[in-house]
Amino acid sequence: MSSSSVLLGCIADDFTGATDLANMLVRGGMRTVQTIGVPAEPLDTPAQAVVVALKSRTAPRDEALAESLAALEWLRSLGCRQFYFKYCSTFDSTDEGNIGPVADALMQALGTSFAVACPAFPESGRTVYRGHLFVGDVPLNESGMQNHPLTPMTDANLVRTLQRQTPSKVGLLRYDAIQRGVPALAEARAQLAAQGVRVAIADAISDADLHTLGESCADDLLVTGGSGLAQGLPANFARAGLLDTTGAAQQLPAVQGLAAVLAGSCSRATQGQVAHWREHGRPAFRIEPLALAANAQAVVDAALAFARERVAREPVLIYATSAPDEVAQAQQTLGTAASGALVEEALANVARGLEHMGVRRFVVAGGETSGSVVNALGVSSLAIGPQIDPGVPWTVSDGARHALALKSGNFGSVDFFEKALAQCERIMEPAP
Ligand code: ADP
Repeated sequence: MSSSSVLLGCIADDFTGATDLANMLVRGGMRTVQTIGVPAEPLDTPAQAVVVALKSRTAPRDEALAESLAALEWLRSLGCRQFYFKYCSTFDSTDEGNIGPVADALMQALGTSFAVACPAFPESGRTVYRGHLFVGDVPLNESGMQNHPLTPMTDANLVRTLQRQTPSKVGLLRYDAIQRGVPALAEARAQLAAQGVRVAIADAISDADLHTLGESCADDLLVTGGSGLAQGLPANFARAGLLDTTGAAQQLPAVQGLAAVLAGSCSRATQGQVAHWREHGRPAFRIEPLALAANAQAVVDAALAFARERVAREPVLIYATSAPDEVAQAQQTLGTAASGALVEEALANVARGLEHMGVRRFVVAGGETSGSVVNALGVSSLAIGPQIDPGVPWTVSDGARHALALKSGNFGSVDFFEKALAQCERIMEPAP
């Protein structure tokens, strides 16, 4: 078996979650490519794992099912041996779905009758015990997730929560079995299957638990979970002699060109990163939603003129990041969706203008913002490279046209922008 065969095919229900999963697989030694949606073409980059990033988390159920099944079909055409359905570590879903219905549809399409479900991600404080999901020290329904605008999580009992979403019988793989190791786990799984359980929520409170659980899933056609459980899977392929983990899974093709940072996130971490950049006297240009509403083209032109004068000498930051009271004011005047869309479109246009000036290395802050920038640059897939900070790797777009660091708003240390750019310099050095 060639080491370039695709072993694991993953379907992620949102964009930054897909990158998080891909990052985890690369750390496990798998050369990984992430696609934006289901590609029309076959894969043109060698990979051992492929992650299809969908936007199915909060999509209407039928749409989520159709997209997920299309992703499965494409991944099957690559010859994948195992499939992974990735959702959020806070199990973001409603009683209508989409975790239960998508899991059912994938199981049916694959002709399999048992799958594990575990969102635990202990590194980020998400643990599952006796079927209950904790975020830090509190149950899910006290973590703030009970107030989520789209997927309010009001029940920390995941067996109950998932059972409301599916006619399939949901069971629990208890911590006791996981702690006793893979043979005990195999026995517990067989017992559940004999009781007619099709989907088993699994307890896990540490990375060691996730490795045990991952090992017990070696022969499962479908595994479902957060990015945490995926850390146990690369070792299975290595044990089966299918994966050489000594290879350079993180190696990216070099991308030469100018560099810029685009920030459309108003999350606390991004605010700190923008302030840090400005306090160190680096060039920064601010975009304001009210100015955009008056004349968006003029604002984009001004941002690009600012960049044109400086970017050949040093990286520039173009940002919409604002304090909560300023965001609230823009939202009150323009509407929440409209102000967000204005900023996203402006940053997308700025990205295109920067590319025209020779910028090839982009650091982008914000999940939605990343989506719109990647669209604007016509990116269809990303090769995943080394991690900058937890959950955020450097990536290179198809055709090695851009190097991209796409950061969910609240990720990264206060000097993330500078750190990412310095790391890019190092990893993109032409070979001696
Ligand atoms: P995060 O990952 O932090 O959630 P996102 O990019 O996903 O960041 O979301 C931030 C949203 O806020 C985007 O829709 C963006 O366009 C919008 N936005 C950014 N700056 C402002 C602002 N100053 N006023 C109003 N909305 C803004």
